This record gives sequence, structure tokens and C-alpha cells, in this order.
Amino acid sequence: MSRVYNFSAGPAVLPEEVLKEAADEMLDYEGSGMSVMEMSHRSKVYDNIIKTAEQDLRDLMNIPDDYEVMFLQGGASTQFAMIPMNLMKNKVADYIVTGQWAKKAYQEACIYGDAKAVASSADKTFSYIPDCSDLPIRDNADYVYICENNTIYGTKFKKLPNTKGKTLVADVSSCFLSEPVDVTQYGLIYGGVQKNIGPAGVVIVIMRKDLITEDTLPGTPTMLKYKIHADAKSLYNTPPAYGIYICGKVFKWIKKMGGLEVMKQRNEEKAKVLYDFLDSSEMFHGTVVKEDRSLMNVPFVTGNEELDARFVKEADAAGFKNLKGHRTVGGMRASIYNAMPREGVEALVEFMRKFENK
Ligand SMILES: *Cc1c(COP(=O)(O)O)cnc(C)c1O
Repeated sequence: MSRVYNFSAGPAVLPEEVLKEAADEMLDYEGSGMSVMEMSHRSKVYDNIIKTAEQDLRDLMNIPDDYEVMFLQGGASTQFAMIPMNLMKNKVADYIVTGQWAKKAYQEACIYGDAKAVASSADKTFSYIPDCSDLPIRDNADYVYICENNTIYGTKFKKLPNTKGKTLVADVSSCFLSEPVDVTQYGLIYGGVQKNIGPAGVVIVIMRKDLITEDTLPGTPTMLKYKIHADAKSLYNTPPAYGIYICGKVFKWIKKMGGLEVMKQRNEEKAKVLYDFLDSSEMFHGTVVKEDRSLMNVPFVTGNEELDARFVKEADAAGFKNLKGHRTVGGMRASIYNAMPREGVEALVEFMRKFENK
């Protein structure tokens, strides 16, 4: 067996320990005589899996009791619709557009009501986070929406926007559990788990309970009502059971590593190795404003498309996988999520150095 250094933006690298444990339990989960894939989601054994996963997530993020935790399906993209359908009471929402995912969420919200882009960094190909200290947030806005870490462009909000008292909704897909968060600053936090937590197919929603109501837009499908899932404790229908089980294992792994403070420190150290190199290299350059750099997704270029392509090809052959930048951006992107070991980043930098010298 040989494992590569996988810099994929998602689905992405998971902790080896977790994968091994899951493999060990594949045929017989804790004496049940069956795989978690094969068991009823209404069984006692599974009930324990999902409850433990929720509790561990609550512990890690310090989630207060007045917030609901939901394990849903449909990926992050389904939330682009579910959020306006459930939260647009006035049919007014303000969006901060810092990349493609934020833009898609904004465009989806336009289907349901009066969504407005109150700030954007599209003018400089999303290479920075706009100043959000005094935005023209509308008085009747139901919420203010951000994509906190921009997976494709490699920027991250280091400071949350001033929402002028409005509910903050955040897509944290690509920075989930990468550092401590103050959950109380948000009305709703959500993320697809395939970037930093588990297998694709699960989306986690953390939502303040007073926002979860029967009052949704007319025509909202039952499956897209938060209230249905909150009341049923994520078991309204068959949940993505196996995916949640793996998420639970990753929560345990993060706990064992020391929690989110330790994750943050590790991630900062790891990212610094790569950013320091990019800042000193004559060939490779980061594409993002320094203050807004993501700890998770690091895009870079040589400035020459042919050279970029050669680098990606040679890196791949040397065991550094999935470094090609997003199809809309080009260049390279190294996603260095929680489960990417520091040695992986160091080895990549060493490879880049050699490539440059050659
Ligand atoms: C990947 C990603 C999405 C889309 O996730 P899907 O689960 O494929 O719908 C949305 N937002 C962000 C920030 C992402 O990184």
C-alpha cells in the first residue's frame, strides 16, 4: 500500500487513522455483525453513533444549547436554496460575493426574493476580501451571507462583517473545524463535509433555534425545511448514515489531537511553510492579498501557463496529487486541510525548490 500526498480541494484527504479504523470495522461494527452501511438508522447502535457525533461536534466548537446541529444531505449547494426558503421572511437578503461559491449562493437566492450583492471582490478576480466594516446592509434584510473561506480563490474572512445587527449566515465548507469559532456570532453556519471532515454527501448545519420555524416560503419542499430535520434530530428520513459515522470519527481524531486551538496552530505552521516559500521564490507566486490568505487553500502560479502545466505534471509523477488549479482559475492550488501532515507541505516545498532550480 502506498499513500500519496493528496492536495485535492475536495473530496479531500482524511486522517489515515480514521480510514484504518473504518476499514477494521467494515465487516463487523462493534460486535453488531454488520457494517455501519448495512444497519438501520433507527437501531440503537446507529442512534449512539449519530448522538455521539453531535456531542463531539458540540464539544469541539463549543456550540451553545440554543443552537441546533443537523446532519443533512444534498451538499453545500442545496443550502444555497434552503437558506432563502427558510430565512427570507421579508424576501430580502444581502450577500457578500467573494468567489464562485458565494456567487452561486447569491444567484440562487435571487430566485426566491430580493437578494443584493452589497460587496464584491469580483473586480480583482476575487483575490481579496472587501472591507465589510460599514456595508449598506438594508434595514429589512433577513440575513447577511458570506462564504467564509473561498476554496477556489484562497481567501478567508479574518474578521466577520459588521452585519448591523442582522443574522449572519456563513458557508464554512472549506474551513470547517480548522480553527476555533465563536458560534454565537452566527445565525447559521453550514458546510459540506467533503473538504475537511468526511465523505461527500453530508452537510452539517448549525443553526440558532429561534430561526428554525414553520414559516417558510410557499412551496418549500418538506425535505428542505429545517424544522422538519431539527424536530426529527436529523432522522426524518434515512440520513447519509455511513458518512455521518466517518464524520464522527474525524471529530474524535480532532479531539484527540487537542481540539481546534491545536488545529489552528498546526494549520498556521503548515501554511507558513508554503507561503514563506512563495514569498521568497522567483518562479512561484501566491495570487491572493497577504492579509486575506486562507490557511486551507493556497493558489499559486508561475506566470507562464506552459510552465504551470509542466509543474503539475511533474509534481503528479512525484506523488504530489491534485495540484492543478480550479478549471476557472488555472495555475496551481494546494489544499492543505487538517488531515494534510506538515511533512506533506514540506515535501511539496522541497519539490518546488528543486523544480525552480532546474
Ligand atoms: C465545495 C464547496 C461548495 C459546494 O459543495 P457541494 O457539496 O459540492 O455542493 C460550496 N461552498 C464551498 C465554500 C465549497 O468549498
